[in-house]
Amino acid sequence: MLNFVKIDRTNPKKRDVLQRIKDYKEVYEVFAEYKASEQASRCMQCGVPYCHSKCPLHNVIPSWLKQTWQKDLELAFALSNETSPFPEILGKICPHDVLCEGECSLNDDYGAISIGAIETYISEKAFKKGIKPSFPKIANSKDSKDSKNSKKVAIIGSGPAGLSAATFLLRQGIGVEMFERSNKAGGLLTYGIPNFKLDKKKVQRRVTWLEEAGLKLHLSSEFGKDIKAKDLLDKFGAIFLAIGASQGAKIGLNGEDATNVYQAIDFLTQIQERNFLLEEDKENKQVKEGIKAKDFDVKDKSVLVVGGGDTAMDCVRSLVREGVKSVKCIYRRDEKSMPGSKKEFENAKEEGVEFCFNLSPKEFILKDGKVCALRVQKTSLVYDKFKKKNILTYKDEYFEFLADMVILALGFSVKKIKVLDELGIKTNDKGNIQINEQFQTSNSRVFAGGDCQRGAHLAVTATADGRDASKEIAKLLKTLD
Ligand SMILES: Cc1cc2nc3c(=O)[nH]c(=O)nc-3n(C[C@H](O)[C@H](O)[C@H](O)COP(=O)(O)OP(=O)(O)OC[C@H]3O[C@@H](n4cnc5c(N)ncnc54)[C@H](O)[C@@H]3O)c2cc1C
Repeated sequence: MLNFVKIDRTNPKKRDVLQRIKDYKEVYEVFAEYKASEQASRCMQCGVPYCHSKCPLHNVIPSWLKQTWQKDLELAFALSNETSPFPEILGKICPHDVLCEGECSLNDDYGAISIGAIETYISEKAFKKGIKPSFPKIANSKDSKDSKNSKKVAIIGSGPAGLSAATFLLRQGIGVEMFERSNKAGGLLTYGIPNFKLDKKKVQRRVTWLEEAGLKLHLSSEFGKDIKAKDLLDKFGAIFLAIGASQGAKIGLNGEDATNVYQAIDFLTQIQERNFLLEEDKENKQVKEGIKAKDFDVKDKSVLVVGGGDTAMDCVRSLVREGVKSVKCIYRRDEKSMPGSKKEFENAKEEGVEFCFNLSPKEFILKDGKVCALRVQKTSLVYDKFKKKNILTYKDEYFEFLADMVILALGFSVKKIKVLDELGIKTNDKGNIQINEQFQTSNSRVFAGGDCQRGAHLAVTATADGRDASKEIAKLLKTLD
């Protein structure tokens, strides 16, 4: 250990930019064993590991780095999977630069340990060697004479919060049924984050293992429509709501409802649906000719994406892969203030995306009912003395960008669903579900976690909620019967 003085930080190799923009395959390779061990050997094994404290899952990072350095893969896998339900996924998509790696003691001078890449390496290498997560046998509800079966939990939503809760409940031997309105499990891991950041097979692999462990998954089952609240309360001891925040924010300008202005999530979802189709039917003639995402034929078009976060980065990079003529990202603050991962911003620049900072949309210019240009106003930022908080000010300068299509990536809020009222569940003024410290909503048998209670946030915080809520749910189940 302590090799940081002689070994530089390295990242996993990236695919060549001219190749990778032709498809949706993952950009980053996984470390080879020698590289992972070498990089892990840089860790100082701090007495107070800030990386661990900053991780929302409080992963025991120095411990599994040490085992990676010593090439004890089994122990590294056990330690890494103890606190996280899918480390190989979060190793790929967490914004490590602002979480564990941002807090690494080596970050300022020598370069932080490549924690995310090593996290992914440990599980991927272990899976290759046939090591799989293990679960206890679930007490079978069919054995029970009581049809109410209060020991089972219903989870609504199969994103990171739902999958994490399912993992940790199953690990405690508690039966779980999951209800998902979509036709595939994974939430935004499947239908938001593009395949070039996270291969969908990696999400499905975890879902399959959960099903093997006893999870009963009901796809295309919408809570409040196909599934009634009362039925679930009758049948299950507790409900965990992990329904995410899927309502795309509006910009509030005239012309926003034009048919060529889209919400980011609609665009990304349709691209992924199309890609699933392509995968399932490679030999199909229509596929060979290149079927388009249902509504989005963007080839050779000039597209503007408004927003500067992870969702905007995913849109601009998907647009490049769809063969647009040009794609510009319009953000009203400066580069330093971009809220998403710096790594993905750099990748977007490499892939040919043009960034236009300090511009705030003011008006959609319409022609024949469609947007043909976006008028923007120049902004500037005034920093406080700590150079952290900045105040946005507007200048008297305006520009126009021609556009065939505009995508809005401005954030998300929780969709209001009637069934929450039926359950007596309180929400705050932003529409987020209110919970207490035990993740319990105003209905004591209904818990909630992830984006639906925090507002749109991160996969890792949703995952932490799912894990921590599962402990509280288990406590409640013990009091029932
Ligand atoms: C485009 C995009 C890119 C992102 N990139 C990153 C990233 O790189 N790194 C990162 O950490 N985070 C990223 N995020 C954020 C992250 O994906 C979310 O914070 C996380 O997925 C939230 O998890 P969740 O389980 O709370 O909700 P979701 O992942 O949204 O899952 C909610 C699930 O509930 C289902 N559902 C909703 N209502 C019902 C109902 N009534 N009945 C049944 N099912 C229902 C939905 O279909 C969905 O499957 C990104 C988000 C977006 C939109």
